[in-house]
Amino acid sequence: MGLFSQQFIDDLRLQANILQLVQEYVPLKRAGTTYKGLCPFHNEKTPSFTVNPEKGFFHCFGCHVGGDVFKFLELHEKVGFQDAVRMLAQKFGVALPELHDGADEDGRRDAALREALLKIHELAAAFFRDELTSTAGARARRQLAERDVSPATIEQLGVGL
Ligand code: ZN
Repeated sequence: MGLFSQQFIDDLRLQANILQLVQEYVPLKRAGTTYKGLCPFHNEKTPSFTVNPEKGFFHCFGCHVGGDVFKFLELHEKVGFQDAVRMLAQKFGVALPELHDGADEDGRRDAALREALLKIHELAAAFFRDELTSTAGARARRQLAERDVSPATIEQLGVGL
């Protein structure tokens, strides 16, 4: 299972109306710029649960829970963040993005990169081997001979200049 992108989560948070969401669960009364109701997360007789639709969060002065639309669903439905995102998207008719497995994508990119690097090393090694056998490599060849490095070893190790 993949993860939702931060972009999608931010967009959804903007589109989802926290007031509408909370009112599905809790009767609220307008009190200035905020809305008040009985907290669904603890037992109380006087409302200390508030929703601020402008800022998109809820807060309870009684039990001190609070957060955004996702947090409310997580707490109220007792689900994880990913499930809260899914539920919220469904409620507000937002299409879920195609989820792709990030790990797989990274794996493919790494494999391609490794292949490219290997190719480069091969080409470089071939180039340096050619240089060594050329006139320009004469001095290096002499030095290798002085150190008793045989042509066979040079070939084997891919020694280059
Ligand atoms: Zn509370």
